[in-house]
Amino acid sequence: MIELEKIDGIGPKTKELIEKLGINNCEELIMHYPFRYDVLKRSDISILNDKDKIVIDGIIEGQPTIIYINKSLKKIIFRINTKKNIFNVTLYNRVYLFPDLKPGKEVTILGRFHKLKNTIVASDIRFGLLPNDAKIEPVYNTTAGLTSKSLIKYITSALEEEYKIDNLVPRYLEEKYNLMSKEEALKNVHIPNDIQSLKKARQRIKYEELFMYMLKVNYLKEIIAADINAISRKIDRVKVNSFINKLPFKLTKDQEIVVDEILTDLESNKRMNRLVQGDVGSGKTIVAFIAIYANYLSKHQSALMAPTEILARQHYEEALKIFSKYKTNIVLLTSSTNNKEKKEIYAKLENGEIDLIIGTQSLIQEKVKFKNLGLVITDEQHRFGVNQRKLFKNKGITPDVLSMSATPIPRTYALTIYGDTDVSSIKTKPLGRKEVITYFKREKDITDVLEMMKKELDQKHQIYVVAPMIEEDEESTKESVKLLEEKMNKAFGKIAKIGVIHGKLDTKDKNKIMSDFENNKINILISTTVIEVGVNVPNASMIVIFNANMFGLSTLHQLRGRVGRSDIQSYCILIAEDSYERLKFMETTNDGFEVSEYDFKERGEGDLFGTMQSGELELKMASIKKDFKMMERAKDDAKEFIGTLLTFDTNPEFEAFFKELKKIENLD
Ligand code: ADP
Ligand code: MG
Repeated sequence: MIELEKIDGIGPKTKELIEKLGINNCEELIMHYPFRYDVLKRSDISILNDKDKIVIDGIIEGQPTIIYINKSLKKIIFRINTKKNIFNVTLYNRVYLFPDLKPGKEVTILGRFHKLKNTIVASDIRFGLLPNDAKIEPVYNTTAGLTSKSLIKYITSALEEEYKIDNLVPRYLEEKYNLMSKEEALKNVHIPNDIQSLKKARQRIKYEELFMYMLKVNYLKEIIAADINAISRKIDRVKVNSFINKLPFKLTKDQEIVVDEILTDLESNKRMNRLVQGDVGSGKTIVAFIAIYANYLSKHQSALMAPTEILARQHYEEALKIFSKYKTNIVLLTSSTNNKEKKEIYAKLENGEIDLIIGTQSLIQEKVKFKNLGLVITDEQHRFGVNQRKLFKNKGITPDVLSMSATPIPRTYALTIYGDTDVSSIKTKPLGRKEVITYFKREKDITDVLEMMKKELDQKHQIYVVAPMIEEDEESTKESVKLLEEKMNKAFGKIAKIGVIHGKLDTKDKNKIMSDFENNKINILISTTVIEVGVNVPNASMIVIFNANMFGLSTLHQLRGRVGRSDIQSYCILIAEDSYERLKFMETTNDGFEVSEYDFKERGEGDLFGTMQSGELELKMASIKKDFKMMERAKDDAKEFIGTLLTFDTNPEFEAFFKELKKIENLD
């Protein structure tokens, strides 16, 4: 790796800024790809109408002048000669450019063409002429204090260093698809020669990402298939059925099917690796508990992992209820469990006294040893085998794995993305559920919203209020939560108890507030998105989401899923000033599968893969939706290649691939 400071122009200050982007060395800088390109193409004057957009280059003719319109408004006017025409150019409010605008200087002007006056009102100006076809300018994600232009400069220098970035496409595949070389591709992505080579460069990098992804998925499949230590057991179906019959409700058809699939998996001597996807509120938790019971009957331990402590606690309380008639020994392990208790729990897990442990993912991964772990369930987790490998690597055991996700992925995609994981879907909702009614409102209609809230409170129902998220700025988010709290207090302080929950609170306070809300001691719960996943408070009948435009549709759907969890009519109110169409769409459907389809169509994979992108699915440039065909090809190629790779593991040409794959194996 080459340090950032080696690069011309990067001192300690700039380094700090660049690091803010998550870039720590020269190689990472080079892999910070533009998120879009501006294409500057010389306009054909003969076809332009009055006030059309124009891009034109030429030489400044004569001395530009500054004109003072009033105190705060100044403009520079000058003429440019394009060899074919002469235009007047007006440039507002850029007086600082004046010293650079000298007669004879070559410039490119972007703006609007006022045909009758033969004048261009410039919106932007670049120095230098356009190349013959088009100038392509990369635009980067960046941070305050660091312009996209300065990034180009640093990246250009970085590309001249002896950086070390592996080529991760085998040569025969490069040849097969006539791919641009890695080095050339990296260069062209940042400094494109022309549109054609930019396309080829992007194609190369996307293919590599997809190929590596599919290689990892298939490699994991190999590892899992090689696990001959999978548990096979006989499940006492009579007992399981009697457990099901004692539940306070009858399972839906889909729940029954999924339960049956899981029991069959548990009995099989192949390791279970199943994803259950079902819309919010479709009743996945109980399916998990039935699996846990079956596993308990076969005298194995279970672990249930939730993404947040709040959710873990809720599952714990639910489990205590469901298993109250059985001798199941259940514990909760969270960050607030003290050391003494922890030690006790570890000991009991190791000697087999505990049948079910519930916690967050990180806690269970730590140093927990089981006597005979038979089943691991991850709730609300985008799954990818990497995590699961990591989970049990050092324990020498191969429990069955069940993952639950409320973010349904269209089936064709799911099959490719998840490799050969089995996918079960719960599509029907429990009987008697009313559809959540969704309204899109603007802030000026806030009184309507408050009236609707009042109606719910009058019926003793509870309300979630999701506070606006302000970018990722925690301070201002906290501010906005406070503001909202004041608003709510002003409106409802006399008739309702209001609670606030946000990321900065410590666990104890969070739990207290959550349990007060669950027990109806709090009527309105204001929160940032902590409540996003899984929380179940059936008496909550309304969720009001501010700045709804800031969220992806799938997230909104998840949030909406917090209500409509009983037979009370529930409402979801989305407040925003823009994103009219997307949010209007939310009014038309309650179906998570439809929402995810819409997200797919509208914005590529949308935010479905948000969590996967970070770390698990390393796709920087490729898009699962837009490049799906390429992904399928990459899948076949990877499957074929993996055979070669594993037979010739001493071939130095394959070293880079092994390095990547090792990352999956040695994750601790
Ligand atoms: P999710 O799939 O979002 O995790 P939950 O498992 O939290 O949904 O279930 C939502 C609610 O529906 C819970 O209160 C649960 O007890 C209830 N429920 C689950 N299955 C049924 C069913 N078959 N009939 C009636 N209610 C059910
Ligand atoms: Mg759930």
